[in-house]
Amino acid sequence: MDPFKADHSVSYILNELGEERENYYNAIAPPIMQTSNFAFKKVDDLAKAFEDEMSGFLYSRGLNPTIDILRKKLAALDAAEDALVFNSGASAIFAAVFANVKSGDHIVSVNSPYTWAQKMFDQVLPRFGVTTTYIDGTQIENFERAILPHTTVIYLESPNSWDYAIQDLRAVAELARAEGIVTIIDNSYCTPLYQQPLAMGIDISMQTATKYISGHSDTLGGVLTGTHEMMKKIFNSEYLNMGIGATPFNAWLLIRGLRTLPARLDRISATTKLVVEWLKNQSWVESVLFPLDPDFPQYDLARQQMRGACGLLTVVMKAQTRGEIVTFCESLRHVLMAVSWGGHESLAIPRCASVAEEDFDPADRQHRMIRFYFGLEDADYLIEDMRQAAVKMGEKTRS
Ligand SMILES: *Cc1c(COP(=O)(O)O)cnc(C)c1O
Repeated sequence: MDPFKADHSVSYILNELGEERENYYNAIAPPIMQTSNFAFKKVDDLAKAFEDEMSGFLYSRGLNPTIDILRKKLAALDAAEDALVFNSGASAIFAAVFANVKSGDHIVSVNSPYTWAQKMFDQVLPRFGVTTTYIDGTQIENFERAILPHTTVIYLESPNSWDYAIQDLRAVAELARAEGIVTIIDNSYCTPLYQQPLAMGIDISMQTATKYISGHSDTLGGVLTGTHEMMKKIFNSEYLNMGIGATPFNAWLLIRGLRTLPARLDRISATTKLVVEWLKNQSWVESVLFPLDPDFPQYDLARQQMRGACGLLTVVMKAQTRGEIVTFCESLRHVLMAVSWGGHESLAIPRCASVAEEDFDPADRQHRMIRFYFGLEDADYLIEDMRQAAVKMGEKTRS
C-alpha cells in the first residue's frame, strides 16, 4: 500500500483524497464536470447503472465526478463510510428525517432546532401523520421520558446555534441504539474538525456547508455523513426523487472552501477568544454565551465532546430599551447585520428584530440578546467597531 495514501490526516484529506489528477491533465484544481449525463459503450454497463445508480456515473441528479471528490473528503473528515452533498443544509435535514419516518411515527427533537428543521416538524410532517415532541436536551432523562413505542428519530443540534445548549451525545446515542431509534445531529456549529458525532455513536451527522465549509458567503450546501447503507437509502429515495443534490459548480466551490477550513477555524478561534475576553469586561454587557467559555453552564460537557468552538456566540446586553440595542447595531461600521455565519465577514443579529417595540421586555433576557459571528478580520478591528458602537449607544441613552 502507498504509505502516503494510508495517511488519513486532515491535511491528506483536504489536499489529496479523492482527487485523480492524472484523469484531468494533472490540474491541481479539479474540473467542474458540468454535464447532465454520461455515455456508455456496453449495454451491460448501462444495465448495471440502471440497477444501482450509486454504482457509477449515469445522470448528474445522482452521481457526478466533481461532487464525488467532495463526498469522499467529507466522509473522511467524519471518519464515515459515506457522505451525500445537498444543495442546502435545509434539504439535507429534510432528506435525513424524511428517509427515516413513515406515517404514524414520532420524533423527539431538542428545543429550538434550526428554524427550517422546526418548520418541517411543525408544519410539513404533521400533514403525513408524523408528530414531534420537543425536549430540553441538556438532561438525558428528558429523552428517556419523551420516547414512545413509535419513536423512530431523535433529532439533535449540539451546540444549538442560538443558545448553544449541548446534548450528551454518547449517552443519547446509547439510549437510542438500545431502542432502535435513528439519531440525527446538526453538527454545523462545530464541523467535523471540532466534533465527531459518528465516533460517539450518532447515526447521521448533518452540516450546512453554507457556513464554515464554504467559508466565503458565496454558495449554499448541505452534508450528511453516516454508513454507506444509510446514505444509499437516502440517495435512492429523497436525494434522487427531489433532485436536491449539490450542483457541480457549488461542489467545486465547497472543495475550494474545504482547503482552508482548518486555517480559517484556527484564526477565528483565536479572534473569538480575544473578543470574548474583551466583551466580558464591558459595562454594557450582562453576559456572553459561548460554549468554551468557563462560565458557560455546560462548559465541562463541551470540553469533553468538542475539540473547539469558534465565531458564533451571543451577547446579553444590559439595555433597558429596544432603542439602545437598535442604536448599537445600526452604529456598527464593519460588523454587518445579516443572517447566516461561517464566512469571512463578521455579523450581528439582534433578537429584538423579531420583537415589536411595545412588546420589548427588558426583564426577558432573550429580548436583549445579540448573536454575533466573528469572521476573519483582525480582533482589534472588530473590538474597535463594537467599542465605538457602544459609545454611540451610551450617548443616545444619556441625551
Ligand atoms: C444555516 C443553518 C442550517 C441550514 O443551512 P442552509 O444551508 O442555509 O440551508 C442548518 N442548521 C444550522 C445550525 C444553520 O445555521
